[in-house]
Amino acid sequence: MAVPRNRTSNARKNSRRSHHAKKPQNVSECSNCSKPRIAHRICPHCGFYAGRAVVHAREE
Ligand SMILES: [Zn+2]
Repeated sequence: MAVPRNRTSNARKNSRRSHHAKKPQNVSECSNCSKPRIAHRICPHCGFYAGRAVVHAREE
């Protein structure tokens, strides 16, 4: 098995990991109730997805 000849410096390690940061979740508006909703997810407020009721929303 190949063994690394040189130790990876902190700068090289950190610059390799510079693309690893998490991006914020893409929040969009529901087309049915116009409340904030995570993109490509069923609306947690009305249970709609792609213009039709997929699940029944919680009654509160
Ligand atoms: Zn909705």
